[in-house]
Amino acid sequence: MAPATQQATAVCKNYIGGQWVASHSGKTLSRENPADWREVVGAYQDSTVDDVVAACDAAAKAFPGWAGLAGPARGEFLRKAADILESREEEVARTMTREMGKTIGEARGETRRGVTILRYFAQEGLREVGLTIPSADARTLMYTTRVPLGPVALITPWNFPVAIPIWKLAPALAYGNTVVLKPAGLTTVTATRVVECLVDAGLPAGVLNLVGGSGGRIGSALAKNQHVHGISFTGSNAVGRQLAGDALERNTKYQLEMGGKNPVIVCDDADLAQAVELTVSGAMRSTGQKCTATSRAIVMEPVLKEFTERVVARCRELKVGPGLDETVYMGPAVSRDQLETDLHYIEVGKGEGARLLCGGGQPGGERFAHGYFVQPTVFDQVTPAMKIAQEEIFGPVLGIMRAGSMEEALTLANDVKFGLSASIFTRDINRVLQFAATADVGMIRVNGETAGVEPQAPFGGMKASSSHSREQGRAALEFFTSVKTVTFSPAGT
Ligand code: NAP
Repeated sequence: MAPATQQATAVCKNYIGGQWVASHSGKTLSRENPADWREVVGAYQDSTVDDVVAACDAAAKAFPGWAGLAGPARGEFLRKAADILESREEEVARTMTREMGKTIGEARGETRRGVTILRYFAQEGLREVGLTIPSADARTLMYTTRVPLGPVALITPWNFPVAIPIWKLAPALAYGNTVVLKPAGLTTVTATRVVECLVDAGLPAGVLNLVGGSGGRIGSALAKNQHVHGISFTGSNAVGRQLAGDALERNTKYQLEMGGKNPVIVCDDADLAQAVELTVSGAMRSTGQKCTATSRAIVMEPVLKEFTERVVARCRELKVGPGLDETVYMGPAVSRDQLETDLHYIEVGKGEGARLLCGGGQPGGERFAHGYFVQPTVFDQVTPAMKIAQEEIFGPVLGIMRAGSMEEALTLANDVKFGLSASIFTRDINRVLQFAATADVGMIRVNGETAGVEPQAPFGGMKASSSHSREQGRAALEFFTSVKTVTFSPAGT
């Protein structure tokens, strides 16, 4: 077994068949700190299709042995990996902040969440997997069991570089699949630290493989590889659509979690202090780069003025800066591309006639001169036809919309192509029930933030946000296994 930790070198290698190896390309890609692009955080392999083939071959070779282990024995590796990740929390969190930009507090929280997810799935080997079903023949035993899919491809985004790889790989491994992980290029250094924890836990060679590189160059080859029997993807709708096509070609099981345009409805009976704080947090934490971020506040007329003033006042107070500064609320955008997207949409909003209330550009001064910083930005007078009301920005931009009634608020909430999460702030049980029944989203919050997820509960969206499968909790069992029905009769007539 190769030694796991390669922090001594800033260059992350691929991990294939139990070895840390360089790409066939002989090239690496480097990653800068988005809070100060002069600092190089690390580099990762610029992998080729040959590297992908090697990783899939290794996962196929390891599959029979791994699937043949008892569930509790597989879980033991996850439990050990959780302990190792916990012991490395601060180092992993700091790497995440330097590589992705989120604040150190959020990065620590995400790393702890990764530990919790590993521990949750470590227990999965002890839980029931099937049903006993009465047969038409009284002597026959009929039951279902579940079997792993085989080698699976996990393709993950940059916005949760620890939690999302773990919430895919932990159930995949727990249920007996082997894995090829292709993390986002922007956060491959952090994802490598996660893989190191699993390697240090003693996973057999080939059970978990890591391939760095450009998704545009190797992603499709991974999804189409003959050994891959499941694809779990989180990322943009454009890439998700392409991967779904790749999966259909070979009838491979797939799961896509994609964008959001998540609303809060603020009713006239809301606790406004709570609604303001949780709307701002949902919109601005992580620089708005959460699929579950709040991007629309739909506010009833009687509280519109006060809510708007308080949101703007709160946003003006938020401290923007490098995420390693413990006092900072909001770090930089993840990349120059994302910063440009944010600034583009701000211009679009102004051009569409929305009223800019705060933010609207990059903060000035030396502290921000070498980073991808953008100000917390709030528009009001946003109407449903505007692009900033319809398209995912993935930045710290909140649009406030006016609603004359509960019915109008619900119509506005549903009037987008996405359907990931939605919140309502109210004390009225009838409004809560109406909202929970009518909102076309996978996750409903009442007096809570649109963002946030608990690992033991199903996570996923409706409409264009998802391929309608769910992740996490027991829902992960549905994706990462196939059902077998066994009908078992006595020998003889
Ligand atoms: P992305 O550009 O779609 O990238 C996601 C992953 O796909 C990365 O690993 C990327 O690799 C890879 N990829 C890129 N092009 C590919 C291709 N042609 N074939 C196969 N793989 C390819 O998304 P992102 O910018 O990282 O993430 C932001 C998006 O993720 C947002 O839309 C957000 O809403 C969504 N998201 C959704 C959820 C959810 O659970 N619903 C959670 C988090 C994020 P490279 O990095 O090398 O390009």
